[in-house]
Amino acid sequence: MQLFNSHVHTSTSPDCTAPIEDICLAAFGAGFSGIAITDHCSGSHYISYNSYDILKNSLRDVRRLAKEYQGKMEVLAGVEFEEIIWSPEYINRLIATSRFDVVLASVHKVQNVPDTRYFSRIDFSTYTNDELSYYINCYFKDVLKTVKTCDFDVLSHLTIILRYVCGKYKIDFNLSEFMPIIDEILAVLIERDKALEINTSEFSTVGLMPDEKILSMYRTLGGRKITIGTDAHFPQDISKGFDFAIDVLRKIGFDSYYYYKNRLPQKIII
Ligand SMILES: [Zn+2]
Ligand SMILES: [Zn+2]
Repeated sequence: MQLFNSHVHTSTSPDCTAPIEDICLAAFGAGFSGIAITDHCSGSHYISYNSYDILKNSLRDVRRLAKEYQGKMEVLAGVEFEEIIWSPEYINRLIATSRFDVVLASVHKVQNVPDTRYFSRIDFSTYTNDELSYYINCYFKDVLKTVKTCDFDVLSHLTIILRYVCGKYKIDFNLSEFMPIIDEILAVLIERDKALEINTSEFSTVGLMPDEKILSMYRTLGGRKITIGTDAHFPQDISKGFDFAIDVLRKIGFDSYYYYKNRLPQKIII
């Protein structure tokens, strides 16, 4: 079976220090047949993060490493566009003028709430249950708006808010009250023929993002396009949780997963 990791970062991302050479070496050593380099590009503060230069450097490095690994491992050009709905015109222009293999869409901060900082900067332990419910509902609303209105191929790490609420702050919180909006997000993905990512970066703490229950809902609704990404920011995390994700897919009844090349889905039988 081919192993394709569709979500990997390099030192071109502002929160990663691993050079692309180290990431590719680790991926090749772990037996991956391909990886997509998906450095962060932010729609919420693209000028201070200089998203244009991040993208330019990332694509340049990917082309170089793709040549180096030709015939051994595919190194594809991706991007993780965060908070696209904060500045869709800018992101759409970047997408239209760059040649990507895969475009990931993700949400790491919420737009219409009192605290619009990154989840990682917010102390959720100070929130009441009602405040938390309100905030998480706004998170899902932003995801829904993203999947309804934006240009992308794969929705990344749906439910990532749990990494902070349940993982970092150990708050006992479950998503049952949000199942209707999650259902709507999945239905829009299927209708627009977009893929859902299984993000394995927190599989040893809060589990897969999204979890088995949501993945089953997606399948029941008719969803078949799944990608798998470890979201590795360090070489040692390159394959973390990948086999576990395949096992869960098989258990739910999936017979395949996908990766994207030239923004077209490529099927891998599991
Ligand atoms: Zn992300
Ligand atoms: Zn990422």
